[in-house]
Amino acid sequence: MRILIDSGSGCCNGVGRAISTAEKYLSEHGRLFSLGAIVHNDAEIRRLAGLGLRTVGYSDLPSLKGSTVLIRAHGEPPSTYDQASRYGVSLIDCTCPVVLALQKKIAAKYAAMSESGGTVVIFGKRGHAEVNGLVGQTGGHASVVENMADLEEKLASGEIDPSRPVALFSQTTKDPDEYSSIAARLKQASQAVSSGCNAGDGCGKSSLEVFNTICRHVSSRHKALREFAAACSVVVFVCGRESSNGKVLFELCRSVNPRSYKVESADELSAGMFFPDDIVGICGATSTTRWQLEKVAGAISGM
Ligand code: SF4
Repeated sequence: MRILIDSGSGCCNGVGRAISTAEKYLSEHGRLFSLGAIVHNDAEIRRLAGLGLRTVGYSDLPSLKGSTVLIRAHGEPPSTYDQASRYGVSLIDCTCPVVLALQKKIAAKYAAMSESGGTVVIFGKRGHAEVNGLVGQTGGHASVVENMADLEEKLASGEIDPSRPVALFSQTTKDPDEYSSIAARLKQASQAVSSGCNAGDGCGKSSLEVFNTICRHVSSRHKALREFAAACSVVVFVCGRESSNGKVLFELCRSVNPRSYKVESADELSAGMFFPDDIVGICGATSTTRWQLEKVAGAISGM
């Protein structure tokens, strides 16, 4: 049996930066609060909890006066910064620079569109921390689209009106192909409205702008991971159950290699998953650390 660890797997820059910032602060102060899980990865959270990191929620903020709270790579809406300031909480802002740039772009576009009555549409998972931060840039007025069926419903109900300007953005970790399909459907709706317009009937304001906002780290991973998974006889994908990026990347592995297993840790492995002449490929999500991949590799080689 040969065991390969995907060279492109391991924490992305944004998550890695948040973790190393927390580690540095903890080594100096011994205690730090994180607003929400710093990473969707229970094993890594347990390791950081051992260093003094405690995960808190919004309802804890009023009782944290004088404390320091870390904002994770996903970012936060403006209301969180207001609350922290109101309750006397200091922040260490670890919003990923890529997410921060996206927040600013959405805020600027929303402000520019407010007169035309257009809609900011965000392709992403409703309730996901990054999406909440993005929607917050529009004062809660952006329309979140989770998939094609959701888009069709919103077009039918008029929540997204293609006769008005529409600006489409994506959560940074979404699937690039799915985003292209969503953009193509919106373009079709917008063109259908434009071609049906007569001068003077008030429907000459349709326009669609599509912004390529999927993180390059994620989009480049898709092609490389597809090739890696196809070249192995069995794939072990390591990620936390709550990682939405993990779900996307695991499905991608499974689409090219049906013998793909998703595990949170080596405890979920069993000898029956492998054959002696297998090439085992180990990979993970943008929230999976290198040490976890190596631990899983070690457990498989010991079977
Ligand atoms: S996936 Fe990309 S945008 Fe998201 S935290 Fe990581 S580096 Fe930042």
